Amino acid sequence: MPTSKCPECEEEVYVDADSEQGDSVTCDECGSGLVVVGLDPIELDLKSETDDPYDENLDSLEYEDDRY
Ligand SMILES: [Zn+2]
Repeated sequence: MPTSKCPECEEEVYVDADSEQGDSVTCDECGSGLVVVGLDPIELDLKSETDDPYDENLDSLEYEDDRY
């Protein structure tokens, strides 16, 4: 299984062999949410908490349901 370094704590993080760019992984060491930003070699970047699209989607979910 491929590994990459956590940008937060620099521990090795295991990444699924069939991971794709944009996939989310969690660092077992520090619990940080990470995103696969490169595959060869595997590069990880911190997932930005304020930039998480899921948070906004939750807020606007009702509104979007009305539109469909
Ligand atoms: Zn970490």
